[in-house]
Order: sequence, then structure tokens, then C-alpha cells
Amino acid sequence: MRGELRRLARKAEQEGEHYRENPGPRIETARRWAKDNPEKRREMALNYYHRSRERAADYQRRYYREHPERVREGGRRRAAIRRARLRGNGGRISVEEWAQLLESSGGACLYCGAVEKLTVDHFVPVVLGGATIVSNRVPACATCNYRKGKNEPETWVIRHFGKGKLAEIVGFLYAR
Ligand SMILES: [Zn+2]
Repeated sequence: MRGELRRLARKAEQEGEHYRENPGPRIETARRWAKDNPEKRREMALNYYHRSRERAADYQRRYYREHPERVREGGRRRAAIRRARLRGNGGRISVEEWAQLLESSGGACLYCGAVEKLTVDHFVPVVLGGATIVSNRVPACATCNYRKGKNEPETWVIRHFGKGKLAEIVGFLYAR
């Protein structure tokens, strides 16, 4: 699974780069449409997000049933890698990507709007299977990042900031 996840993460990153550098007419049209139809876009983003999470969860459940020992071993290895990453300057994110994250959030914590002590937050926590890819990263102040911790992200956001905020965040992730 690790190999497959890595491959997918790499592909997502490459595609993201490609589209950022070459938006093209279709992307421009889509952006204009999204701007003109914010409600519809939010709804679509939420649907997309739920569908892809269900698919990923199904796959992971099936995989776990078939290879419980590999999952456990992978979990230990991922935890070690994550600790190593966190020791080294906040993870694998590039300076450019960080600048883009800040630009898209208006230089503020996506949860509470604070503008100080910003960190990279994995919306779906790494420990819950969230990938370290562009579409799972949001800028968060150190306080929100810490409080969110290993909580199930949707529940946490709704509890502290309401459903509108969740839709906003999903829209943010979807647009990346
Ligand atoms: Zn915050």
C-alpha cells in the first residue's frame, strides 16, 4: 500500500504543478464558473470530498482485513517517518508551496483567522491516514493545529466553527 500511496501522492503533486503552471482555457472557464456559483461549488466540493473519502476508507478497510500485519508495520514506520519529518523543519513542504498556501488563505489561519505563528496542518491528520499531499494541507495557527490534533477533522471543525466553516475549508482543499 505504501508504494501505491506514494505513487498517488506523486501523481497528485505533479498534476497540481502542471495545472498551476498551465491553467489553460478549461481551467479558466471552471474558475469563472466557480466564482459565479459559490453555493453550487461548495455543494459539489462537499460531495466530491465525501465520495473520495468513502472510496479511500473502503479500500483501507479491505486492505486491513487482507493484510493486518502489513498495516500495523506500516503504521509504525509511518509514525517514525512523521516524527523524523517533524523534527526537520515542519515537514516536506517546499518554500514555494508554503507561499502558495498562505496566498490562498490570505495569510491567515484557515480555521480561526489568526495571522501569527502559522503552521502547516494536515486537514485529515497523518495519523488517521491523511496524505502529505498538497490537497490535504492547510495553513493553521499553532493553537488550532495543536487543538485539532488527532481529532476527526470534520467533527472538530463543525464543533468549533460550524458547518459553514467546514464547507469553506473543503472548498479550499478542493481548489488546490
Ligand atoms: Zn487558528
